[in-house]
Amino acid sequence: MIRKYIPLMAALVLAFSCNPTTEPTVQDTLTVSPASLSFEAEDASVKLVYVTTAGDWSASLSANWMHLEKSSGTGKGTLALKVDANTGEDRTGTLTVKGASTATVSVTQKGKNIVQIVPVADAFDGTKRASTTYQLLIYSFADSDGDGIGDFKGIQDRLGYLDGLGVTALWLSPAHPTSSYHAYDVDDYSTVNPLYGTEQDFKNLIDAAHGKGIKIYMDYVLNHSGRNNAWFQQALADPASPYREYYVFSDDPESDVRAGKIDNYGGASSPGMGSWHQVASGSAGYAGRLHFVLNSTAKTITVTETTAPADTPLATADWYIYNNDFQGMKKTADGMYEITLDMNNDWGFLVCSKKDWSSGSKYGASSSAGNIQFGVPFSLYTNANNDAVGNIRFGGTSTSYFASFDASMPDLNYGKYAQASESPAFQAIAATADRWITDFGVDGFRLDAVLWIYQAQVKANQAFLSQWYDHCNATWHAAGHADDIFMVGEAWEGHDTEKQYYKGLTSCFEFEYFDVLARAVNGNASSYVSSVNRFISDHTGQRPDAVTSFHMTNHDQNRAAESFGRDAAKEKQAAAMILTTPGKPFIYQGEELGYYGKKDNGDEYVRTPILWDKAGTQCAKKGVNNKVDTGMLKAEISVESQTADAGSLLNVYKTWSRLRNTYPALAEGTMTDAGLSGGSSVAAWYMTSGSQKMLVIHNVASSEKSVTVKDNLSKPVALLGSATLDHDVLTLGARSSVVFLL
Ligand code: MG
Repeated sequence: MIRKYIPLMAALVLAFSCNPTTEPTVQDTLTVSPASLSFEAEDASVKLVYVTTAGDWSASLSANWMHLEKSSGTGKGTLALKVDANTGEDRTGTLTVKGASTATVSVTQKGKNIVQIVPVADAFDGTKRASTTYQLLIYSFADSDGDGIGDFKGIQDRLGYLDGLGVTALWLSPAHPTSSYHAYDVDDYSTVNPLYGTEQDFKNLIDAAHGKGIKIYMDYVLNHSGRNNAWFQQALADPASPYREYYVFSDDPESDVRAGKIDNYGGASSPGMGSWHQVASGSAGYAGRLHFVLNSTAKTITVTETTAPADTPLATADWYIYNNDFQGMKKTADGMYEITLDMNNDWGFLVCSKKDWSSGSKYGASSSAGNIQFGVPFSLYTNANNDAVGNIRFGGTSTSYFASFDASMPDLNYGKYAQASESPAFQAIAATADRWITDFGVDGFRLDAVLWIYQAQVKANQAFLSQWYDHCNATWHAAGHADDIFMVGEAWEGHDTEKQYYKGLTSCFEFEYFDVLARAVNGNASSYVSSVNRFISDHTGQRPDAVTSFHMTNHDQNRAAESFGRDAAKEKQAAAMILTTPGKPFIYQGEELGYYGKKDNGDEYVRTPILWDKAGTQCAKKGVNNKVDTGMLKAEISVESQTADAGSLLNVYKTWSRLRNTYPALAEGTMTDAGLSGGSSVAAWYMTSGSQKMLVIHNVASSEKSVTVKDNLSKPVALLGSATLDHDVLTLGARSSVVFLL
C-alpha cells in the first residue's frame, strides 16, 4: 500500500503545483509475460520474461534453484531466468515482479522421476485364449512304463506340465507302427505303434488332454509309407496286386516319365528329389563260368560264357567285379580289364572302381536297363551318390519304384492330381484319418513333406491338399464340430512358394520366420514387424481363413539355441518375441528348456528326450536309440531344476504364455508398427483386438536403449530384463522386453 501510495501522492503534488487544471495521470500498472515457464530436468536454456510498466520494479524468486540475471529495473524491460538441473522430483516456483502492481510468473521444472517398471498382469482367469501348440516327439517326451521309450501314458502323466506351459494343442510325432524310431515311415495308418501303448491308451490321452483344453494334432505322412507297410509288401509280392496302384511303379521309368505317365511327378519332367529303386523278380543271377571284359573308357562290360580256366582275382586292382565279393580284374591294355570267374548267385553283379562302396565307386544298371545279353557290350551306369545303381542282371524281370526320400519310404501314388481323391491310396488313408477324427476325437493334422506329394509342383499339390482338407473337414463337421478342422502343412520352401500352399490348406509353417526372429534376437530387429505382417497378409491374401504358423525350429533343423550361440538371454527374448507376435506359435519339445544340438551329429541330437528330474532317471533315452548328448542333459537343464528357478527359461515361457492366454490383444490381435525411434535395436508394435490395445517393446541390443513413447504407460503387464520410465522416455536394459496394456 505504501509503495503504491507514494508515486500517486507525488503525481498529485506535481499536477497541483504546475498545472492545477490538468487531468490527473492514469495510475500505472505492471504486467509480465508469459504467465508461466516450464523447464526440462536438465534444461540449461535462459528464458525471458517481459515486464511492462512505466515505473520502477523489482523481482524476486520463491526458491534458490531459479536464478535471475538482474532483479530490478525501470520501465519496460526483460528478465532472464534460468534454472539448475533437477535431479529430484518435479518442482514448481514463482517469480514475483513488483512495481506499480504485482505480477507473478509460475515456473515449473520436470524432475528425474525415474520409475522402475514393475509389471502387474491381470489375473489369468483360466481361459486359454491363445492357440499355442507344442510339438512333441512321442518316443522321447515321457516314458511311463520304464522301457525307456516315450509313450501315450507318459504324455498323459505330463499334461499338467503342458497345461502350465499354456499350450492349447499338441502336435504329436507319427503315432503309427513304424520300422524306425522317428516313425515317418508308416507301416500301418489304421492303428497305433504298440511301443507307445494301445489304442485305448491313445484315446485316454486325447480325452485327458481335452479335459485340460489341449487339442491333439496327429502327424500324417501322406507323401510316402514305410517299406514294410503291408500295402507296399503286397505290391512288391504280386505285380497283379491292387496295391500296385498305391505306389509309383514302372518297368521303364525313363520312358514313362518322358511319356508323362508318372502322375506323381505332377507334370514335371524330373522329380526334383528322390530316385527310382529297382525291384527284381525271378532269378537275376547266373551259375557257371563267365569271362568279363571291361572297357573302362567307354564304360561298358561285355560278358561271355566260357569253359576256359577261371582266374585268381587280384587282391588289389583298378577295377573289380562284385558278385558277393570284390574280384580284382587284370589290366590287358590301356583302359581294358579282364577276368574269368565262376558265378553262382541269384542277383547278378556290379562293377566297382574301389574295393568298397564309397561314393561314385559303384557301376551297374540304370533303372531303365534291361538284362545283360552275352557278347553284347552293356552300358554301365553310375552316379555320385551311388543312388539307384541297379544290379546287372542275367534274367528275371525288373521293375522300379519311386521314392522322394530313401528306399525305405516308397512314395504313395494318388494318380492324376485333379482326381486325387478318387485314387485307392487317397481313399484308404482318408478312411484311417476319418477314424481318428470320428472315433478318437483327434482335432487336426500336421501334414509331412507336402511339397513332395507331387514333386514340388505347386498347382498339383494345391489340388491334392485342397481335396484332402475338404475330405477331413467334412468328416470333422459330420462329427458335430461347427468350426473347421485345423491342418498345417510342412511346405518347406521359401515364403514366395510356401504362401501358395494356402490355396490348398488353411495353415502352413512359415519357414522364413525363424530367420527373421534370429536376426532380430541377434541384434537387428529393423524388419521384424514388417516381415511378420508381410507373411500374414500374404497368407490371408490367398484365403481369408488363413492361419500363419510360426515356429523356431523343428525335429529336422538345428536347435534354435544354436542360432543364439546358446545364450540364455537371447533364448528368453526369442520366447518373449514369438509369444507376443500374432499368428499361431509352435514350441518344439526342449526349446522351453534351452536344448541345443546340431544335425551334423545325427538327427537324434535335435530330438533329445526331456530330462524330467535332476537325477536323470526320468528320461526316455531309448526312444532315440540312446543317442543323447550327455553333456547337455545335465541337472540344470531338467524340468525339475528350471521349475524351481524363477528366472529360468522355462519360467519365461510359462509367464509369457500365460500373458498371451490372458489378453485377447496378444492371443488373437493384429500387429501394427508402433513407430518408435529405436533404430535396429528396438522392435515395437501394438497388438489390438476389439477395444483392447497393447504396446510391445523389445530391445534386442546388448546395451540399454531409450525410446520416447506417446502412450500412457501406467499399466505394465510383463517385463523381461529391466525397464525404467522417465516421463515419456522409456529405457530398456540390454535384451529386455516389456508389454503395456494401454
Ligand atoms: Mg515306454
